[in-house]
Amino acid sequence: MPDVSPSQRVLLVSNRLPVSVRIEQGRLVVERSAGGLATGFSGYHSRSGSVWIGWPGETWRLNPEQLGDMRAQLADLRAVPIELTAAEVQRYYDGFSNGVLWPLFHYDMNRLPMNAEGWSTYKRVNQRFADAIVKQYRSGDLIWIHDYQLALVPDMVRRQLPDAAIGFFLHVPFPSGEVFRLLPWRRELLEGMLGASLVGFHTVSYVLHFLTSAANVLGCETRAGRVELNGRSIRVGTFPMGIDFAEYDSLASRPDVLAEADRLRDSAGKAALIVSVDRLDYTKGIPRRLFAFERLLERYPRLRGRVSLIQVAAPSRVAVREYQDFRRGVDEIVGRINGRFASLGHDPIHYISQSLPSERLAAIYRAATIALVTPLRDGMNLVAKEFVASRPDGDGVLILSEFAGAAAELTDATLVNPYDVDGVVAAIRDALVMPEPERRMRMSRMRERVRTQDVGRWSHDFISALVTESRRAQAGRRRAAAAAVPADQPSDVVAAVLEDDRPLTLLLDYDGTLVGLRPSPDEASPDSEILKLLAGLAILPGVTVHVISGRRRDDLVLWLGALPIGLHAEHGLWSRELDSGRWRHRDVRTAWLEQARRLMVSQTEAVEGSHLEDKEASVAWHYRMVPPEVGRRESAALTRKLRRELAGTSAAVLRGHMVVEVRDAGVNKGLVARDLAAANPRARLVAVGDDLTDEDMFRAAPADAVTVHVGTGQTAARMRLLGPDQVRRFLAELEERLTERPRTEEPGRTESAVETGGAR
Ligand code: UDP
Repeated sequence: MPDVSPSQRVLLVSNRLPVSVRIEQGRLVVERSAGGLATGFSGYHSRSGSVWIGWPGETWRLNPEQLGDMRAQLADLRAVPIELTAAEVQRYYDGFSNGVLWPLFHYDMNRLPMNAEGWSTYKRVNQRFADAIVKQYRSGDLIWIHDYQLALVPDMVRRQLPDAAIGFFLHVPFPSGEVFRLLPWRRELLEGMLGASLVGFHTVSYVLHFLTSAANVLGCETRAGRVELNGRSIRVGTFPMGIDFAEYDSLASRPDVLAEADRLRDSAGKAALIVSVDRLDYTKGIPRRLFAFERLLERYPRLRGRVSLIQVAAPSRVAVREYQDFRRGVDEIVGRINGRFASLGHDPIHYISQSLPSERLAAIYRAATIALVTPLRDGMNLVAKEFVASRPDGDGVLILSEFAGAAAELTDATLVNPYDVDGVVAAIRDALVMPEPERRMRMSRMRERVRTQDVGRWSHDFISALVTESRRAQAGRRRAAAAAVPADQPSDVVAAVLEDDRPLTLLLDYDGTLVGLRPSPDEASPDSEILKLLAGLAILPGVTVHVISGRRRDDLVLWLGALPIGLHAEHGLWSRELDSGRWRHRDVRTAWLEQARRLMVSQTEAVEGSHLEDKEASVAWHYRMVPPEVGRRESAALTRKLRRELAGTSAAVLRGHMVVEVRDAGVNKGLVARDLAAANPRARLVAVGDDLTDEDMFRAAPADAVTVHVGTGQTAARMRLLGPDQVRRFLAELEERLTERPRTEEPGRTESAVETGGAR
């Protein structure tokens, strides 16, 4: 495991600072508060000046003197406050983080507001966090950003500190791709998180959901545990958060805690104690759990008076209407069940709607026969682990929702589906009679897991992985610098093109050359800048512009049809004459086409999310919206099958970016380059393109042509630009220079039509 060198500071960033602020005799007292994150981080925080950045709480309630006091005391604790206004908290925290992201990430789509609020404040507050990080940052620091309230921060920091080691950990579930894509800001959220070098989740399934969303929403390449984005490789990993096992283990043996546990058992009389501890949140499954308890008493009358439920429901987000209404609903259910089944001296539900300190929780856990933990969705659920840690006696049964992240680790719990109320009833009934040896065996295995995978281990594993990633990125940067492919400046290409004043034939590829690659081919329509550039060049005397693409005629006509330029579709199968606007068609032998189409149609039917692009002399199968693992497997299988079945025909099977395509081997962009050069031998050919199919055009171009590859890969082109932005700068500068250039002759149009050799 890599060592975290003591000199390496950690900047820990979370929505809330782990402090409590109170006024005592008019003076302000700031104290560190305990909590999972604070415990896990304490080792790093005591080391060489690590810093915690976050919101300190409702500072608008403090007078200027108290504020000054707070800042000084926080500075002593090496805590950097992000002071927010009440309005900011309402929009960024209650409105967007807890009003939109929280329900969506917990699969509660019905709670998404009709009119979501707070996005712009969320962005603004995230930017403030990012700026504070940048201000604190010293070279070599590790930055660790936490949770859904700060999802945009990693990218905002990356823009200012391109080489920093940035980790992001999500404490809530990452939902299935089908749910995540409901979010109008899905792109921004993903790009924000992917600013990190390492993105961590509690479980493998959250990781898989995230990879699927990155592939589908952003069109990123993903492979096991990594996302490739903008030349960076981001690690995505599983880091199940633990608790401070030692604390609960020792609390639960303390005499006062044991005494309180005894008191609880005594007051329950003969009844077995079932305990549930939650924040009062709609994700925790409290109403369904109460219904299950009610049904247990209904169905098994002999259990009445023999079981009782302690439900601790700590008030949460009390300023939010939704939570106030929810609380009233829970109060009513508890009242009804107690009214129905209470007898003198026995209330079946003991309902505590307060937040209890950890020693009282430890006593409750220790007193329990059963812990009933049944959230509808929960990122991890620490209560389940606290219960286990609080049982040094080795007894007690944990009933745990399979939709809590903890279920992936605590497989010795009795796992239940909280939506299956009868199933929960059966689980409680069975737990009440579970033989002691079985209870002890299960508890002992769970305790081993919670003990070894505690919160210290969790933060150590995450930080170690972040160190590894940062070293990997550094090595990558060194390699890239050593092997950097020399790129040309747009002005160098202009100079090469204007070496003399010959007429010019520009032959430009479309996707990846004139416009950036987009996740879905339909999103790649030209913007006004590129349309203006092409139009401006096309009307200059002595210049002819051609756009060439693998796309269909219809697409090119829809997007570029109004421009006075030559168009070449399906890699040159079709060419539109410049003057007459007529389309000409090359001779190809497409006897294989029907067979290829049939294979692809059945593949499209078999693989959900894939689609067929049916062109006139070629056919393509796109799998951009298919889960990455499935897409990789199915595209490889399809390619093998096509090659086998079309062997001996003139078909070429190509695997592109998220696409498998079959076209005639005899048609390629090189034919167009050759024909254009032959049609006007006086003109200089300028060919620009970014992918493999453009290499045909570079190879076929005459020796005096200017050939330009866009990107860093291997190429037969003589010059290189790094992306569509640079291509645009080249075209803009070329237009400017040509507009200024004095003309020595009146060339008129340099060619009247595209004379394509094999065209008919
Ligand atoms: N908790 C508490 N007092 C209470 C109820 C809960 O301190 O009265 C603590 C509990 O010990 C646990 C945390 O709140 O550490 C709840 O964490 P969990 O992961 O179970 O749920 P979350 O609140 O993060 O959704």
